[in-house]
Parts: sequence; structure tokens; C-alpha cells
Amino acid sequence: MIAENYQEVSNKIKAACDKAGREYEDVTLITVSKTKPVSDLREAYDAGSRDFGENKVQEMMDKIPQLPSDIRWHMIGHLQRNKVKYLIGKVYLIHSVDSVRLAEEISKESVKAGVVTDILVEVNVAGEESKFGTGTEESKALVREIAKFPGIHIKGLMTIAPYVEDPEENREVFKALKKMSEELAAENLENTEMTTLSMGMTGDYEVAVEEGATFVRVGTGIFGERNYNI
Ligand SMILES: *Cc1c(COP(=O)(O)O)cnc(C)c1O
Repeated sequence: MIAENYQEVSNKIKAACDKAGREYEDVTLITVSKTKPVSDLREAYDAGSRDFGENKVQEMMDKIPQLPSDIRWHMIGHLQRNKVKYLIGKVYLIHSVDSVRLAEEISKESVKAGVVTDILVEVNVAGEESKFGTGTEESKALVREIAKFPGIHIKGLMTIAPYVEDPEENREVFKALKKMSEELAAENLENTEMTTLSMGMTGDYEVAVEEGATFVRVGTGIFGERNYNI
């Protein structure tokens, strides 16, 4: 079932690319594997997935040694500063940088380890307080401020759109994130690329691809519903 689902999501991404006149190679499907057992991740891996997203540091650290080393691990969840040190050198991309203090910690630990860590700034486009991101003007100020930190490289922006019945309702959210990334790109900030847009989940990834997503993060659409009580 996981392999079929993975294929189906991939096909839908391809169709959305065709519709929008984009290259399929420019969109990466991140398999969101939080709460799922390693055996499920292995199935997704065998189906072709090489990008996995987790939202808890401990869970990611437990899974990494149990799976092939060519996997790119994405931290997509709210990150506590005291957990940053475990991620450095292991994580491919941190999607959820939402404060100067968190960026400072990633910078400090990366410099200590002699690496540069790729990050995205999480933007709360829709203004939902529960999502930990920051509003667009605040996010722009955040990007400008942390761009000068050593040991980090800002690759772009990420957003978690609200849960909606009709994915069309989130089109404006995705457009806003894209516009913001273009505006920031025009500022030519140091250590900043603005080539990456992480947006779109199971309910709305096709719309996100149409609006320019380069990473979509899909969990339920590949593994089925999550059970948080196990
Ligand atoms: C859980 C999660 C996803 C995946 O959500 P689905 O609706 O299961 O596809 C994507 N992004 C983030 C940040 C998440 O926490």
C-alpha cells in the first residue's frame, strides 16, 4: 500500500508540474514519517523515497542508524534550542527556524562542528498563532538578521498552511510565500539563496506545486492516518 501511495503522490506532483509548466525534477517529495515505524519507512525507501521528514529530534536520531545512509533527513517540526546539537551534521535541512535565538544556536553548534547547516525560515503566512511561525514582515526581519550568522545558509522559506476542506483556499497562502521569497531574493542578502519553498501537505500539495513549491511534505497521503496513541 505504501509503495502504491508513494507512486500515486509522485504522479500527482508530476501532473501538477505539467499543468503549471514546471519541471518535475524541481519538486522533491518529502515523505513525512513521524510516528511511523522503521518498517514503514523502509517500504517508502524501496518505493523510491530518499527524503524523509520528522518533527521530533529523538525520533529522527533513533531512525537514522536503522536506515540507509543515502537518505536526506529533514527536520520539519518545532525545534527546541537544547536539541539542536544532536541534529548538526546529521540533518539535511532544518525547515522550522522561527526565531533569532534558534538560528543563533544552530549557528553556534555548526561553527563548533565545522559545518554549515542549511535552513529554511518558517513563515506563518496565514497568521495562525498555533503554528509557531512568524508573520511575513517579522519573518523578513528575521531572515535579514540571521543572514549574517556564520555556520548557517538560508535556502528559502517554509510554511504550514491551515487545515482546509478545499485546497483552493490555501492557494493565496502559497502565492504569498512565493512572493515573499522573491522580494527577499531581490535584497541579495549574504548567506541567503531563496531557491527553496517548502509548502504543501497531503490536503493541498498539488496546489502548492502549481504555486511554486520545491519541497512538498506528505505523510498521511503515503502512510495513511497517524495514530498518536501508540
Ligand atoms: C505532519 C506534518 C506534515 C505532513 O502532514 P500530512 O497532512 O500527514 O501530509 C507536513 N508538514 C509538517 C510540518 C508536519 O508536521
